[in-house]
Amino acid sequence: MGVLNLQKAFASGYTERVEAVVIGSGFGGAVASLRLGQAGIETVVLERGRRWEITDAGDTFCTYQKPDGRSSWLSPTTPSLLGGTPIDVYTGVLDVKVGDGITAWRGAGVGGTSLIYGGITYQPTQELFYQVFPRSIDYEELNRVYYPRVRSILKPSAIPDDILATQFYLTSRIVLEQAAKANLKARKYDMNIDWDIVRQEIAGQKVPSTIVGALFYGINSGANQSLDRNYLKMASSTGYVQIRPLHVVTEIEEADNNRFRVVCNQINEQGVVINKKTIVCRYLFLAAGSIGTTELLLRAKNTGKLRRLSEQVGKLWGNNGDALSIVATSRQTNPTQGGLVTVIEDFDNPISPVVLEQFPFPGAPEGAYVALSLALSKPEGYLKYDASKQTANLVWPKNSANNQKIQNAVLDTYQRFNQANGTSLAQPPDANTTAHPLGGATIGAVCNPYGRVHGYRNLFVVDGAFIPGSCACTNPSLTIAALAERSMDRFLNGNFKD
Ligand SMILES: Cc1cc2nc3c(=O)[nH]c(=O)nc-3n(C[C@H](O)[C@H](O)[C@H](O)COP(=O)(O)OP(=O)(O)OC[C@H]3O[C@@H](n4cnc5c(N)ncnc54)[C@H](O)[C@@H]3O)c2cc1C
Repeated sequence: MGVLNLQKAFASGYTERVEAVVIGSGFGGAVASLRLGQAGIETVVLERGRRWEITDAGDTFCTYQKPDGRSSWLSPTTPSLLGGTPIDVYTGVLDVKVGDGITAWRGAGVGGTSLIYGGITYQPTQELFYQVFPRSIDYEELNRVYYPRVRSILKPSAIPDDILATQFYLTSRIVLEQAAKANLKARKYDMNIDWDIVRQEIAGQKVPSTIVGALFYGINSGANQSLDRNYLKMASSTGYVQIRPLHVVTEIEEADNNRFRVVCNQINEQGVVINKKTIVCRYLFLAAGSIGTTELLLRAKNTGKLRRLSEQVGKLWGNNGDALSIVATSRQTNPTQGGLVTVIEDFDNPISPVVLEQFPFPGAPEGAYVALSLALSKPEGYLKYDASKQTANLVWPKNSANNQKIQNAVLDTYQRFNQANGTSLAQPPDANTTAHPLGGATIGAVCNPYGRVHGYRNLFVVDGAFIPGSCACTNPSLTIAALAERSMDRFLNGNFKD
């Protein structure tokens, strides 16, 4: 069918049929797409956001200094934490979900949140992993097979010493030094960053981005190895995977013969609906992120389109124990330049394990730096469907006993840190915002240990919605991808195929 005929067909309510549909193209979606493509399964990936190709001119994304519509997903302003500046409404990269007790950040575009993430590729310890995950996931196997499988594609590595020694990474060096003084274990961790491109930024051959602390609106130099440049590129080149940007899935439902009907709106870059499409597939993989996947499932349950879904859909959600603090020190810090390359691991904290990650933040004052703490939060939050608006509201009990406990744990780490260094907290841990929404369609409650949704043979959750609220004191992307690799292995080689 030619392109014009195809367009006419869609306009007249044509239903397309494919073997597999993947909703969302972040970590879970990218892994699923590649493995489906390699297995020769015709797959369509529906992604609400646009493509973001890195240009030679270094102007793909907007900057903190000059924000525009590219910064934010269909919003008239940038996020309040980043200034709340009025902008044109556009399909930008950062989407902010304001909930009750929490605001959650996530990405939109081909590559998902990897487009705006820090590149931290961090594996949890076995001991902490089992504080969160059930024994039905074999950590030894993840460690032996699936974490290495993800690393073999992303090829992350620690910041090289010559780059760490530059003025741009002054804060990271200060943190390493101060941690040692406080007898806290600190180290460089693996980053999904092309350090040669960072060297080109330093040499003035590429637009300064990583080294000047760009992050939340994207990295213009191309140093960030987002998923569109590895997993998704490889998926497309199998010839079996078609990625369709600017397609917002609105409904999923059961169709005849154990198939699924997926309804989506094709939008333009201003978010205006230009077409409505229906696809019927045999296998459906949900990878719209914790909030996106959970919202689609809640809607389907509420409207009776997936009647056998568990009552647990929407529950067991958490913020990964995220909290932001500002450390004040009496030295020069370059707080808005490079960073996010080292971690302090206080696993022996007497209250609860804590990690601290310094990162650059626009507008942070000289003499200070911003740090993110991660702790073992419990999945006490939930998403609740609002039928009148057809959206899911996010609720987080920020003052619960467990949240107070982890706040005290973080304060305990800072107390030792500050005592040894003469530093202080200009802002105590603030858990109002998370960059790591997790849960809502979790292992055990909604799916089996391989992501297959209870009650539906061919429906799978392969993203952060699967994880019960915490990634065991780590940033979650590596574990989301490793668990997706594990689920895809089971799907392709195990007993899930018809
Ligand atoms: C600023 C920031 C920095 C971060 N830094 C790090 C880091 O350094 N290391 C780390 O490990 N983690 C980091 N994270 C978290 C990490 O990026 C996420 O945990 C991870 O991307 C989640 O993967 P996912 O597959 O669950 O979903 P996502 O990567 O969020 O992908 C979901 C995709 O689904 C799409 N989608 C949603 N709804 C629909 C719909 N209805 N129809 C079609 N498409 C839809 C979205 O547009 C998105 O592309 C960061 C997050 C943020 C916000």
